[in-house]
Amino acid sequence: MSALHVSFEFFPPKTDKMQETLWSTVEKLAPLGPDFVSVTYGAGGSTRARTHETVARIIRETALPVAAHLTCVAATREEVDAVVKEYWVAGVKHIVALRGDPPGGPGDPYEPHPGGYANAAELAAGARKIAPFEITVGCYPEKHPDSPSLAADIDHLKRKIDAGATRAVTQFFYDNTVYLRYLEAVRKAGVTIPIVPGLMPVTNFAGLRKMADVCGATLPGRLVKLFQNLDADPQTRDLISATVAAEQCLDLAEEGVDHFHFYTLNRDKLAYALCHMLGVRPKPTAAVSAA
Ligand code: FAD
Repeated sequence: MSALHVSFEFFPPKTDKMQETLWSTVEKLAPLGPDFVSVTYGAGGSTRARTHETVARIIRETALPVAAHLTCVAATREEVDAVVKEYWVAGVKHIVALRGDPPGGPGDPYEPHPGGYANAAELAAGARKIAPFEITVGCYPEKHPDSPSLAADIDHLKRKIDAGATRAVTQFFYDNTVYLRYLEAVRKAGVTIPIVPGLMPVTNFAGLRKMADVCGATLPGRLVKLFQNLDADPQTRDLISATVAAEQCLDLAEEGVDHFHFYTLNRDKLAYALCHMLGVRPKPTAAVSAA
Protein backbone atom coordinates (compact mmCIF):
# COMPACT_ATOMS: atom_id res chain seq x y z
CA MET A 1 0.00 0.00 0.00
CA SER A 2 1.52 3.40 -0.94
CA ALA A 3 1.50 6.29 1.54
CA LEU A 4 -2.05 7.38 2.26
CA HIS A 5 -3.25 10.86 3.08
CA VAL A 6 -5.77 11.67 5.76
CA SER A 7 -7.60 14.76 6.98
CA PHE A 8 -9.83 15.33 9.98
CA GLU A 9 -12.90 17.50 10.38
CA PHE A 10 -13.83 19.04 13.74
CA PHE A 11 -16.70 21.22 14.88
CA PRO A 12 -16.17 24.25 17.15
CA PRO A 13 -16.91 23.28 20.77
CA LYS A 14 -19.66 25.02 22.74
CA THR A 15 -18.59 24.34 26.32
CA ASP A 16 -15.36 24.02 28.30
CA LYS A 17 -15.91 20.27 28.55
CA MET A 18 -16.34 19.98 24.78
CA GLN A 19 -13.27 22.15 24.34
CA GLU A 20 -11.25 19.67 26.43
CA THR A 21 -12.56 16.74 24.38
CA LEU A 22 -11.66 18.47 21.12
CA TRP A 23 -8.22 19.35 22.33
CA SER A 24 -7.38 15.83 23.49
CA THR A 25 -8.63 14.63 20.07
CA VAL A 26 -6.34 17.11 18.32
CA GLU A 27 -3.41 15.94 20.45
CA LYS A 28 -4.10 12.30 19.68
CA LEU A 29 -4.57 12.77 15.92
CA ALA A 30 -1.90 15.41 15.22
CA PRO A 31 1.05 12.96 15.24
CA LEU A 32 -0.60 11.11 12.33
CA GLY A 33 0.46 14.04 10.15
CA PRO A 34 -2.86 14.79 8.42
CA ASP A 35 -2.73 16.80 5.18
CA PHE A 36 -5.04 19.22 6.96
CA VAL A 37 -7.64 19.49 9.70
CA SER A 38 -10.77 21.54 9.18
CA VAL A 39 -13.23 23.33 11.44
CA THR A 40 -16.90 23.62 10.47
CA TYR A 41 -18.95 26.80 10.37
CA GLY A 42 -22.40 26.72 11.98
CA ALA A 43 -25.58 27.40 10.04
CA GLY A 44 -26.01 31.08 9.28
CA GLY A 45 -22.65 31.97 10.82
CA SER A 46 -23.86 30.89 14.28
CA THR A 47 -20.39 29.61 15.17
CA ARG A 48 -18.47 32.43 13.52
CA ALA A 49 -16.54 33.41 16.67
CA ARG A 50 -16.08 29.82 17.88
CA THR A 51 -14.89 28.61 14.46
CA HIS A 52 -12.41 31.47 14.39
CA GLU A 53 -11.19 30.81 17.95
CA THR A 54 -10.79 27.09 17.29
CA VAL A 55 -8.88 27.65 14.07
CA ALA A 56 -6.70 30.31 15.73
CA ARG A 57 -5.88 27.95 18.62
CA ILE A 58 -4.90 25.15 16.24
CA ILE A 59 -2.59 27.58 14.43
CA ARG A 60 -1.13 28.89 17.71
CA GLU A 61 -0.56 25.56 19.41
CA THR A 62 0.13 23.04 16.67
CA ALA A 63 1.95 22.72 13.39
CA LEU A 64 -1.19 21.32 11.72
CA PRO A 65 -2.27 22.81 8.39
CA VAL A 66 -5.77 24.07 9.12
CA ALA A 67 -8.75 24.84 6.90
CA ALA A 68 -11.66 27.01 8.03
CA HIS A 69 -15.13 26.26 6.67
CA LEU A 70 -17.17 29.25 5.55
CA THR A 71 -20.72 29.56 4.19
CA CYS A 72 -22.72 32.20 2.29
CA VAL A 73 -25.89 31.94 4.42
CA ALA A 74 -27.64 35.05 5.75
CA ALA A 75 -24.70 37.38 5.13
CA THR A 76 -23.81 40.10 2.65
CA ARG A 77 -20.69 39.77 0.51
CA GLU A 78 -19.07 42.44 2.66
CA GLU A 79 -19.76 40.46 5.84
CA VAL A 80 -18.40 37.26 4.33
CA ASP A 81 -15.38 39.11 2.94
CA ALA A 82 -14.68 40.48 6.42
CA VAL A 83 -14.53 36.90 7.78
CA VAL A 84 -12.28 35.87 4.89
CA LYS A 85 -9.91 38.75 5.67
CA GLU A 86 -9.93 37.88 9.40
CA TYR A 87 -8.97 34.30 8.52
CA TRP A 88 -6.09 35.43 6.31
CA VAL A 89 -4.77 37.76 9.00
CA ALA A 90 -5.01 34.93 11.57
CA GLY A 91 -2.81 32.79 9.32
CA VAL A 92 -5.52 30.64 7.71
CA LYS A 93 -4.48 29.85 4.15
CA HIS A 94 -7.11 27.23 3.32
CA ILE A 95 -10.89 27.67 3.17
CA VAL A 96 -13.60 25.04 2.74
CA ALA A 97 -16.00 27.18 0.69
CA LEU A 98 -19.65 26.20 1.06
CA ARG A 99 -23.00 27.64 0.20
CA GLY A 100 -24.53 26.39 3.42
CA ASP A 101 -28.04 25.18 4.14
CA PRO A 102 -31.19 27.33 4.35
CA PRO A 103 -31.83 28.78 7.84
CA GLY A 104 -34.81 26.40 8.23
CA GLY A 105 -32.43 23.48 7.65
CA PRO A 106 -31.61 21.32 4.64
CA GLY A 107 -34.80 20.47 2.80
CA ASP A 108 -36.18 24.04 2.82
CA PRO A 109 -35.75 25.97 -0.44
CA TYR A 110 -32.48 27.94 -0.47
CA GLU A 111 -32.82 31.72 -0.86
CA PRO A 112 -29.49 33.47 -1.30
CA HIS A 113 -29.05 36.67 0.70
CA PRO A 114 -29.89 39.53 -1.73
CA GLY A 115 -26.50 41.14 -1.17
CA GLY A 116 -24.60 37.91 -0.61
CA TYR A 117 -22.73 35.22 -2.50
CA ALA A 118 -25.32 32.96 -4.18
CA ASN A 119 -23.36 29.72 -3.92
CA ALA A 120 -20.03 28.10 -3.16
CA ALA A 121 -18.59 28.93 -6.60
CA GLU A 122 -19.18 32.66 -6.02
CA LEU A 123 -17.76 32.39 -2.50
CA ALA A 124 -14.62 30.60 -3.74
CA ALA A 125 -14.07 33.28 -6.38
CA GLY A 126 -14.66 36.04 -3.79
CA ALA A 127 -12.17 34.53 -1.34
CA ARG A 128 -9.53 34.09 -4.05
CA LYS A 129 -9.94 37.79 -4.96
CA ILE A 130 -9.00 38.67 -1.39
CA ALA A 131 -5.98 36.37 -1.02
CA PRO A 132 -4.48 33.26 -2.67
CA PHE A 133 -6.29 30.76 -0.45
CA GLU A 134 -6.24 27.04 -1.05
CA ILE A 135 -9.91 26.18 -1.66
CA THR A 136 -11.68 22.93 -0.89
CA VAL A 137 -15.38 22.47 -1.74
CA GLY A 138 -18.11 19.92 -1.06
CA CYS A 139 -19.41 17.44 -3.63
CA TYR A 140 -22.26 14.95 -3.74
CA PRO A 141 -21.89 11.38 -5.05
CA GLU A 142 -25.71 11.01 -5.02
CA LYS A 143 -26.15 14.61 -6.30
CA HIS A 144 -27.15 17.52 -4.10
CA PRO A 145 -30.90 17.56 -3.37
CA ASP A 146 -31.16 21.05 -4.97
CA SER A 147 -29.73 19.76 -8.22
CA PRO A 148 -32.01 18.56 -11.03
CA SER A 149 -29.56 15.84 -12.11
CA LEU A 150 -26.12 14.40 -11.43
CA ALA A 151 -24.88 15.98 -14.69
CA ALA A 152 -26.09 19.45 -13.55
CA ASP A 153 -24.47 18.87 -10.17
CA ILE A 154 -21.15 17.95 -11.80
CA ASP A 155 -21.42 21.11 -13.96
CA HIS A 156 -21.75 23.08 -10.72
CA LEU A 157 -18.68 21.32 -9.30
CA LYS A 158 -16.82 22.43 -12.43
CA ARG A 159 -17.90 26.03 -11.74
CA LYS A 160 -16.39 25.69 -8.25
CA ILE A 161 -13.16 24.39 -9.77
CA ASP A 162 -13.09 27.25 -12.30
CA ALA A 163 -13.48 29.57 -9.29
CA GLY A 164 -10.32 28.13 -7.71
CA ALA A 165 -11.19 24.90 -5.88
CA THR A 166 -8.37 22.37 -5.97
CA ARG A 167 -10.01 19.59 -3.93
CA ALA A 168 -13.55 18.36 -3.25
CA VAL A 169 -14.65 16.38 -0.20
CA THR A 170 -17.75 14.24 -0.59
CA GLN A 171 -20.95 14.11 1.39
CA PHE A 172 -20.97 10.94 3.50
CA PHE A 173 -21.94 7.64 1.89
CA TYR A 174 -21.90 4.02 3.07
CA ASP A 175 -21.99 2.18 -0.24
CA ASN A 176 -18.60 2.44 -1.89
CA THR A 177 -20.00 1.72 -5.34
CA VAL A 178 -21.88 5.04 -5.07
CA TYR A 179 -18.56 6.85 -4.62
CA LEU A 180 -16.73 4.85 -7.29
CA ARG A 181 -19.49 5.44 -9.86
CA TYR A 182 -19.44 9.16 -9.04
CA LEU A 183 -15.67 9.25 -9.42
CA GLU A 184 -15.99 7.67 -12.85
CA ALA A 185 -18.68 10.22 -13.84
CA VAL A 186 -16.67 13.27 -12.73
CA ARG A 187 -13.51 12.00 -14.43
CA LYS A 188 -15.51 11.43 -17.64
CA ALA A 189 -16.76 15.01 -17.32
CA GLY A 190 -13.15 16.23 -17.27
CA VAL A 191 -12.76 16.88 -13.53
CA THR A 192 -9.19 16.14 -12.48
CA ILE A 193 -8.99 17.47 -8.89
CA PRO A 194 -8.93 15.00 -5.97
CA ILE A 195 -12.41 13.83 -4.94
CA VAL A 196 -11.79 12.88 -1.33
CA PRO A 197 -14.30 10.54 0.32
CA GLY A 198 -15.85 12.04 3.45
CA LEU A 199 -16.35 9.25 6.00
CA MET A 200 -18.87 9.59 8.79
CA PRO A 201 -18.93 7.07 11.65
CA VAL A 202 -22.38 5.83 12.60
CA THR A 203 -23.18 7.08 16.08
CA ASN A 204 -26.86 7.75 16.66
CA PHE A 205 -28.61 5.80 13.89
CA ALA A 206 -31.98 7.56 14.23
CA GLY A 207 -30.15 10.91 13.88
CA LEU A 208 -28.17 9.65 10.92
CA ARG A 209 -31.36 8.49 9.20
CA LYS A 210 -32.87 11.98 9.55
CA MET A 211 -29.70 13.65 8.29
CA ALA A 212 -29.41 11.24 5.36
CA ASP A 213 -33.03 11.96 4.38
CA VAL A 214 -32.52 15.70 4.13
CA CYS A 215 -29.07 15.42 2.51
CA GLY A 216 -30.30 12.97 -0.13
CA ALA A 217 -27.79 10.33 1.02
CA THR A 218 -28.88 6.69 0.84
CA LEU A 219 -28.47 4.36 3.79
CA PRO A 220 -28.04 0.84 2.37
CA GLY A 221 -30.53 -1.78 3.60
CA ARG A 222 -27.61 -3.80 4.97
CA LEU A 223 -26.61 -0.88 7.19
CA VAL A 224 -30.16 -0.32 8.42
CA LYS A 225 -30.34 -4.01 9.40
CA LEU A 226 -26.99 -3.90 11.18
CA PHE A 227 -28.06 -1.03 13.43
CA GLN A 228 -31.59 -2.26 14.11
CA ASN A 229 -32.57 -2.16 17.81
CA LEU A 230 -29.22 -0.78 18.94
CA ASP A 231 -30.27 2.76 19.91
CA ALA A 232 -30.26 1.75 23.59
CA ASP A 233 -27.07 -0.34 23.31
CA PRO A 234 -24.27 2.10 22.48
CA GLN A 235 -21.51 -0.41 23.22
CA THR A 236 -22.63 -2.91 20.60
CA ARG A 237 -23.47 -0.08 18.22
CA ASP A 238 -19.97 1.38 18.54
CA LEU A 239 -18.35 -2.00 17.87
CA ILE A 240 -20.48 -2.49 14.76
CA SER A 241 -19.85 1.09 13.71
CA ALA A 242 -16.10 0.48 13.92
CA THR A 243 -16.40 -2.72 11.88
CA VAL A 244 -18.51 -1.02 9.21
CA ALA A 245 -16.08 1.92 8.98
CA ALA A 246 -13.06 -0.39 8.81
CA GLU A 247 -14.59 -2.43 5.99
CA GLN A 248 -15.47 0.75 4.12
CA CYS A 249 -11.98 2.27 4.45
CA LEU A 250 -10.06 -0.89 3.59
CA ASP A 251 -12.25 -1.52 0.56
CA LEU A 252 -11.75 2.07 -0.66
CA ALA A 253 -7.99 1.71 -0.16
CA GLU A 254 -8.06 -1.47 -2.27
CA GLU A 255 -9.91 0.49 -4.94
CA GLY A 256 -6.99 2.92 -5.04
CA VAL A 257 -8.33 5.72 -2.83
CA ASP A 258 -5.32 7.50 -1.32
CA HIS A 259 -6.91 10.29 0.75
CA PHE A 260 -9.53 9.79 3.46
CA HIS A 261 -11.39 12.66 5.14
CA PHE A 262 -12.82 11.73 8.53
CA TYR A 263 -15.84 13.52 9.97
CA THR A 264 -14.48 12.90 13.48
CA LEU A 265 -17.35 14.46 15.49
CA ASN A 266 -14.43 15.62 17.68
CA ARG A 267 -13.65 12.05 18.78
CA ASP A 268 -10.29 10.46 18.27
CA LYS A 269 -10.66 6.72 18.88
CA LEU A 270 -12.28 5.50 15.68
CA ALA A 271 -10.43 7.90 13.38
CA TYR A 272 -7.13 6.90 14.99
CA ALA A 273 -7.87 3.17 14.73
CA LEU A 274 -8.93 3.49 11.09
CA CYS A 275 -5.74 5.38 10.27
CA HIS A 276 -3.72 2.65 11.99
CA MET A 277 -5.48 0.00 9.91
CA LEU A 278 -4.74 1.98 6.77
CA GLY A 279 -1.07 2.08 7.72
CA VAL A 280 -1.07 5.75 8.76
CA ARG A 281 1.12 5.83 11.86
CA PRO A 282 2.43 8.60 14.15
CA LYS A 283 5.16 10.79 12.72
CA PRO A 284 7.14 12.24 15.65
CA THR A 285 7.72 15.56 13.87
CA ALA A 286 3.96 16.10 13.45
CA ALA A 287 3.13 16.04 17.18
CA VAL A 288 1.35 18.98 18.80
CA SER A 289 3.98 21.54 19.76
CA ALA A 290 4.18 22.83 23.32
CA ALA A 291 1.95 25.89 23.70
P1 FAD B 1 -23.17 24.63 -3.78
O1 FAD B 1 -22.27 23.63 -4.40
O2 FAD B 1 -22.93 26.06 -4.09
O3 FAD B 1 -24.66 24.39 -4.21
C1 FAD B 1 -25.38 23.23 -3.81
C2 FAD B 1 -26.04 22.60 -5.03
O4 FAD B 1 -27.01 23.50 -5.55
C3 FAD B 1 -25.05 22.33 -6.13
O5 FAD B 1 -24.49 21.03 -5.98
C4 FAD B 1 -25.89 22.50 -7.34
O6 FAD B 1 -26.53 21.30 -7.65
C5 FAD B 1 -26.94 23.52 -6.94
N1 FAD B 1 -26.55 24.88 -7.39
C6 FAD B 1 -26.13 25.91 -6.61
N2 FAD B 1 -25.89 27.01 -7.37
C7 FAD B 1 -26.17 26.65 -8.63
C8 FAD B 1 -26.17 27.34 -9.87
N3 FAD B 1 -25.81 28.62 -9.99
N4 FAD B 1 -26.55 26.67 -10.97
C9 FAD B 1 -26.93 25.37 -10.90
N5 FAD B 1 -26.96 24.66 -9.76
C10 FAD B 1 -26.62 25.29 -8.65
N6 FAD B 1 -22.67 23.32 6.01
C11 FAD B 1 -22.48 24.26 6.97
O7 FAD B 1 -23.40 25.03 7.27
N7 FAD B 1 -21.26 24.38 7.61
C12 FAD B 1 -20.20 23.59 7.32
O8 FAD B 1 -19.12 23.73 7.90
C13 FAD B 1 -20.38 22.57 6.32
N8 FAD B 1 -19.35 21.75 5.95
C14 FAD B 1 -19.52 20.86 4.93
C15 FAD B 1 -18.43 20.07 4.50
C16 FAD B 1 -18.57 19.18 3.44
C17 FAD B 1 -17.37 18.36 2.99
C18 FAD B 1 -19.83 19.03 2.78
C19 FAD B 1 -20.00 18.07 1.63
C20 FAD B 1 -20.92 19.80 3.19
C21 FAD B 1 -20.79 20.72 4.26
N9 FAD B 1 -21.84 21.52 4.68
C22 FAD B 1 -21.66 22.47 5.66
C23 FAD B 1 -23.19 21.35 4.09
C24 FAD B 1 -23.41 22.28 2.88
O9 FAD B 1 -23.43 23.61 3.30
C25 FAD B 1 -24.73 21.90 2.24
O10 FAD B 1 -24.64 20.63 1.64
C26 FAD B 1 -25.35 22.92 1.29
O11 FAD B 1 -26.70 22.57 1.04
C27 FAD B 1 -24.65 23.00 -0.06
O12 FAD B 1 -23.43 23.58 0.05
P2 FAD B 1 -22.41 23.54 -1.20
O13 FAD B 1 -21.24 24.33 -0.86
O14 FAD B 1 -22.21 22.17 -1.67
O15 FAD B 1 -23.30 24.38 -2.26
